Amino acid sequence: MTATSHSPEITIEFHQSPVPDADRIRALETPGFGKVFTDHMVLAKWTADKGWHDAKVTARRPLELDPASAVLHYAQEIFEGMKAYKADDGRILLFRPEENARRFAQSAERMAMPAVPEELFLKAVEELVRIDKNWIPSGDASLYLRPFMFANEAFLGVRPAQEYIFCIIASPVGAYFKGGAKAVSLWVETAYTRAAAGGTGAAKCGGNYAASLVAQAEAYKRECDQVVFLDAAEHRWVEELGGMNVFFVMNDGSVVTPPLGGTILPGITRASVIVLAEEKGLRVEQRPYSFAEWQADAASGKLVEAFACGTAAVLAGIGLVKHSAGEFLVGDGQTGKLTTELREKLVGLQKGVTNDEHGWTRTVSA
Ligand SMILES: *Cc1c(COP(=O)(O)O)cnc(C)c1O
Repeated sequence: MTATSHSPEITIEFHQSPVPDADRIRALETPGFGKVFTDHMVLAKWTADKGWHDAKVTARRPLELDPASAVLHYAQEIFEGMKAYKADDGRILLFRPEENARRFAQSAERMAMPAVPEELFLKAVEELVRIDKNWIPSGDASLYLRPFMFANEAFLGVRPAQEYIFCIIASPVGAYFKGGAKAVSLWVETAYTRAAAGGTGAAKCGGNYAASLVAQAEAYKRECDQVVFLDAAEHRWVEELGGMNVFFVMNDGSVVTPPLGGTILPGITRASVIVLAEEKGLRVEQRPYSFAEWQADAASGKLVEAFACGTAAVLAGIGLVKHSAGEFLVGDGQTGKLTTELREKLVGLQKGVTNDEHGWTRTVSA
């Protein structure tokens, strides 16, 4: 598993019967989110004796697992989410993919899994994007990439597995929320929590999502788009949504976002928004923000906007907030001005429209 300085080997096995052009073009017209998949995938194996080996881009097909495969029993699984964009000039762009590679390695460490060397991760992402480049939609849509890794040892004993599979699949996606730029509604969850101190909240693992689904179902029951979690210790501090970080925009030029401290996923969109907001002259405070403060700030008019952010949805304004004792609106309930500006700036960078002063985009050579 040692990271070597030479470029990792990735074998290419082209699909023998890829989706016909006409079908692919039709699928790209209204892809939705995560329903349509490209022709290829990345596969690599890790074993205790060989480390990472047999990395390849190959035809996308079902995986065959032993019923005792460790992931099916003890959920040793992590993933990433990133997007490839087609710029108007035809370039293929990735947004801060090194950050995904680094976070994937950090998630692996927390879950007692072998890290995928960052070079292998990046090269595998680029190879897949290159080979499936006809699947990258143009316009506002993009190609969502889902790298993931799971324990695949056929063994029921409880310990870190001795065999793993690293895989990347790709899916052309349109808007994450059906309503487009319409503000989302949130259900404030006070019974179920997402992550506790010392737990896996900062790791991007499937288990966190499994634990969040019952609360997300509560949100749907209350006709809300998303759930927002409070902290596990006091049920008092705002943490994040099931899969997005959260920001609060005040009328005094400050922006508040909950601090990273092990229970919140360190979003790359979150980190990018902090930089862009500060460049706009805003004061970003990474500090605990209580649900009581949120309600008071919304009532007093101090809170003018709130938004959720993550790779899938980029930025989504927060409008209606429902909780066990009532509901309130953030601002006028619509997506706010700063939210829209930051979203446009970020999408502009990701699509290569805005000048990339930060060196955040990486061009995939064709
Ligand atoms: C992936 C994820 C985010 C957003 O991270 P990005 O890097 O911005 O996509 C936020 N919260 C959770 C729980 C996540 O899994």
